[in-house]
Amino acid sequence: MARQRSLTKERKMSILSDAQKRTDVAAKLYGAPAWLRSELKMGNPRRVEKLKIKAMTKSGEKVFQGAVVNDMNPYTIGIPHPYKGGIRYKCYASPKSMLDVLMVLARDMTYKCALFGLPFGGGKTCVNVDPLPLTSAERKYITQGLALEMLGANILGYDIYVPGPDMGTDEEIMKYFYLFCAKVNRIIHRPNIAAICTGKPVEFDGIPGRSDATSRGGLIIYSTMTERATETPTFTIQGAGNVGMNVFKLLSSPDFEVNGKVIAISDVSGGLYDPNGLNFGEINEHYTINRTFEGYNNARHVTKDEVLRYKTDALFSAAAEGLINKDNAADIETSTLVELGNAAVTDEAEQILEARGIKIIPDIFANAGGVIVSSFEFRINLGDVPHYVDRKDLKTWVHDELREIMKSTAENVREAQLKYKTNLRTAAYIIAQQQLEFVMKKRNA
Ligand code: NAD
Repeated sequence: MARQRSLTKERKMSILSDAQKRTDVAAKLYGAPAWLRSELKMGNPRRVEKLKIKAMTKSGEKVFQGAVVNDMNPYTIGIPHPYKGGIRYKCYASPKSMLDVLMVLARDMTYKCALFGLPFGGGKTCVNVDPLPLTSAERKYITQGLALEMLGANILGYDIYVPGPDMGTDEEIMKYFYLFCAKVNRIIHRPNIAAICTGKPVEFDGIPGRSDATSRGGLIIYSTMTERATETPTFTIQGAGNVGMNVFKLLSSPDFEVNGKVIAISDVSGGLYDPNGLNFGEINEHYTINRTFEGYNNARHVTKDEVLRYKTDALFSAAAEGLINKDNAADIETSTLVELGNAAVTDEAEQILEARGIKIIPDIFANAGGVIVSSFEFRINLGDVPHYVDRKDLKTWVHDELREIMKSTAENVREAQLKYKTNLRTAAYIIAQQQLEFVMKKRNA
């Protein structure tokens, strides 16, 4: 028990210290000024709001712990530049460990937005609850309770903080969130209520192309940053949620620009393996109904750890933070690890993987597709729609814009990597920090 406690403490410590170390490495390499380094110290976000969310469950009314972190926001002048970052429903051992993770994920959002030139600060929200056993009604009541708390704390609004979906949440949750805010708005009259959150269903003021945007963006980055080694590349996916399943869908789609054989996929309880390639249509249908791979008979059942060990061209890590760590890094057999899950790779694992010649495409670079398409949704909700959008199919426009932004940022990261002779993570951090420095200097001029 004591050993377990000290192990948990070690993990908690390392997510914040990893983030600080990565920040410092980049700042030192490009020569960031002292004032910026001081702004970038981890563990001191601009705003932390602890929430107590009351919701009716099947066993009566319960109170859930939650929190919102707003990290830093250099964009305070002119049109609304709110904090941006997803809502996650996930179980953490304590409110403190949830807060540590939120501070890191909010910082990731700050960097991600700066790297891709999106004028937002970084934020993140969590309700400390395991989403898997929740009924549809419980999901709705918890979401309404969350929205009420956030409105009450005045931490929500098109000009304050605009959340979207993340782990354990989806467009249905964002619909509940939006509809509740819209109802309350009959009393509070906040302007631009449609822009209060993103990731909403299309028919509820959302935008086509948001649900697979993180995966699509990650695959565009992957294909831009790597050479196609074989005619039919092989892939593995860690995580079978929104991001993992959409990666599986796109890789299995002959029309998409990156494809090949997905030979293994895992979720929190296990995985599937077929060296000849897994069948997306069948597995997706089974998984959508059952929320588990159990009972699927057309592939070999393996453990989630085994999934990481198959030799592939790329491993897409699309689950939770810290899952690629010193305990499994030596066993990973892939050429490229695409970090779609935020903070999925610990610093210790990164050292081991890089020493073994495995290329890592880091989270702030690989998984920005979601917030990029959310930024289009936000602009459209504000009425700030580029004049040519309605002349084209909106989904095609979203895909084209996303590809353009991804590819031009990939060019910038490649240049920074060459200039500073470093890995992709540090190169991406350097660009993000330089952008923050530029905007903050301009603001204070
Ligand atoms: P999700 O809740 O839809 O899915 C998470 C998946 O991970 C589930 O299938 C779960 O079973 C699996 N999982 C959990 N622990 C695992 C383990 N030990 N091994 C294998 N699988 C495991 O979440 P999501 O929205 O797909 O997000 C996944 C990651 O991508 C998160 O880190 C999230 O922060 C990040 N992300 C998501 C978005 C988005 O738009 N949804 C955007 C950017 C980043």
